[in-house]
Parts: sequence; C-alpha cells; structure tokens
Amino acid sequence: MDTENLQPETRFVHEGRAPQDYAGMVNPPLFRASTVLFPSVAAMMEAEKNWHAVPYYGRHGTPSTFAFEQSMADLEGGYRAIAVSSGTAALTTAIAAFVKAGDHILTTDGAYAPTRKFCENFLQRFGVETTYYPPTLSAEELAPLIRPNTKVLFLESPSSLTMEMQDVPALCALAKQHKITTILDNTWSTPLHCKAFALGVDVSVHSATKYILGHSDAMLGVITTTENTYLRVKQAAALFGHHAAPEEIYLAQRGLRTLPVRLKQQAETAFTLMTWISQRAEVAQILSPSWQEDVGFALWQRDCTGGAGLFSFALQPQYTQQHCHAFIDALQLFGIGFSWGGYESLALPVNLQGIRANTAYPDNQRIRLSMGLENAIDLQHDLEKGFAALNALS
Ligand SMILES: *Cc1c(COP(=O)(O)O)cnc(C)c1O
Repeated sequence: MDTENLQPETRFVHEGRAPQDYAGMVNPPLFRASTVLFPSVAAMMEAEKNWHAVPYYGRHGTPSTFAFEQSMADLEGGYRAIAVSSGTAALTTAIAAFVKAGDHILTTDGAYAPTRKFCENFLQRFGVETTYYPPTLSAEELAPLIRPNTKVLFLESPSSLTMEMQDVPALCALAKQHKITTILDNTWSTPLHCKAFALGVDVSVHSATKYILGHSDAMLGVITTTENTYLRVKQAAALFGHHAAPEEIYLAQRGLRTLPVRLKQQAETAFTLMTWISQRAEVAQILSPSWQEDVGFALWQRDCTGGAGLFSFALQPQYTQQHCHAFIDALQLFGIGFSWGGYESLALPVNLQGIRANTAYPDNQRIRLSMGLENAIDLQHDLEKGFAALNALS
C-alpha cells in the first residue's frame, strides 16, 4: 500500500504490514534465526552482495527486523533504519561510524549522560576529541567552534533533563557547509512529531525503549539514516556485532501501532499538569518546549507537530535537595526509576553534576516527570502529596 499521503495515525497503523505474505495474519510474524539457508553456493554469494537488505545471517536482520526498520525510516522520512539492542547502542554506533583518530566532535551539552560518557571515556582513548557546546547556541555562535577536523555535530533536541530546544535546521545547514555529519537524538519527539530528515539531519537515533515500546518491558535502539549515511552505519553496527532481538522487534512494531494515541494522551496530561504545577508557589519554572513560556516554544512549534509526556520543573531557589527528595518520596502513583515513555508515570530528581560542561544553570532543585496513561486528576492529587511533604519540611 502507498501510505505516504495518509494521515500520521493511519500510517502508524499500516506501515510495515504485509498480511498477504504471511497467511493473512495481521502482524508480521516473529522470526527467530541465526542461520539462513541458501539453495546453492551461487545463491549464497549472490545474497552476500546485499547482506544488509536480504536475509543473510541472523545478526543482520530477519524479515520482521526489516519490516520494523522500514516502518521507522518511512515514518520519519529517512532512507533506511538499523535496529540495535538499546538506545545507547544506537547513539554510540552512530557516532563511532563517522570518526577516526585525530577527529573532533561537537556534542551538545544537553546530551543524554551516556552519550557524553561514550565521548569522554571511550572515544577519547582512541584519539577523538569532543567539545561540548551549550544546547541553545545559534549557528553563528557555533561556527567558531568548528575545526578543520570536526567530523560530527551531535544534537539532542530537546535536551535530556533540562529540555532546551535546538535550532536543528540552522545547525545542520552550518554543518553541511563544512561537510560535518549531523546526528540527532530524536527520542523525545519520536518519528511521529519530528521529521528529522526534513530538518536536514543526516542520522537520527532513537531509544525505542521509551515511547515506541512504551510499556517498560523491553529495550531497543534504532538508527535512521539518509541514503548517503546508511551503509557506513550499518557496517559499523555489523562490526560491533549488534543485533536486535526478535521479541523486542515484534514489541516495537506493535508499539508503533498505538504510539500516536498514547503520545496524544500523554502530551495532554503533561499540558494539564504543567498548567497546574506552573501555578504552584513552590515552583520557579517549567522546563518543556511544549510549554508556552519556555524559551524553546517557538522552535518546537516550528519543527515539531506535537508534544510528549516528559517534562521537568525547577523548584524555587530556597528549596534544598532534601525538599526535592521528600517531594518525590511522597508520590505513590509516580514511580521512582530511570527511563520514561512507559504507560506508568515516573518521577526523578534531576542531577546535572558532571554531565554539563559549558552551560551554566542556576542551582535550583529540578524534578523530571514522565506522564503515564493514568487519569490527570489522580496524578495531580499525587503531586499534591509531594508538595505537602515538601512544605512539611519547611
Ligand atoms: C534513554 C535514552 C537513551 C538510551 O536508551 P536506552 O534504550 O536506555 O539505552 C538515549 N537517548 C535518550 C534521550 C534517552 O532518554
């Protein structure tokens, strides 16, 4: 079916399905495979020419992997996608694919902490140097940081934890002038709300663990590429020995079907709670590009078609870490734990120590919330318990 002209929700339902190929079954089956058998040596040699696109060896993908990967690429407007075992594997593979000893990377200071640790603790050992730039830099401000050996511009918009939006099209245009490969961590927006390739990005990475899988029961990463960048990234993934497990692929494909309706609900709940939280005297600031008072709001309106259910807020400066922890400990519906994007709500204290190099933040305590699919009123009542616990400490 040609799905390109359909509305987003319809596309999420219909992409990557071929019931006629699988005895009429609605969903592509879950293939388990290491060995792929060939009818002859000649057929095997023929398949080798196209090892990344046809069933060749289990590690490189099965028909269910290819169906999911193509859904992701089509939905985001990319060429092809590569599924790997986690979001972290996706971002480290994407970066490693484009650098060698002596090269330089520009990485946003707002990057997910393991992205930074990979640059600092791993790439540095191989002679690749990283400069961290503040996430809100304009292209003009970023330009002087570019060196002749700069090979990758890494973006994440909005930032992890602090949620700043980046001017992705302007930064990508600048990178293009210097033949620098741009990699965007697009996990927050998903392929539904940010068409990375229309903004000029070369490689988009996703932690499918978050909204795509959506049920806190599996981990998966996806790297989506342009035609020019595809083979380089696929080869790196193959050389690292990455593999995406069949159950995870199946669950991620299934997650795509309900992603638009889940995200819509989660964004709506986020808006309701941001509105309520912003009126609390204990709160200094809401951190979310989909919040109308946020500095990134205009960029978000321009570059994204919708919001998500993940946002942070800053407490007034008089509150200490003890207040912040008392708030979170008092919550009953919001769980305390890592990750986000599941059907259940989560709360986390934001700790920026050691994960921001060149961006100054006031030392207010910050809390990150991930909206689940609970009723917003119940969640608000839960947050009231948090504020009560915070005020009880005085
Ligand atoms: C969670 C996360 C990742 C890493 O994903 P995993 O699947 O947990 O490895 C990468 N980027 C962002 C923005 C994330 O939130």
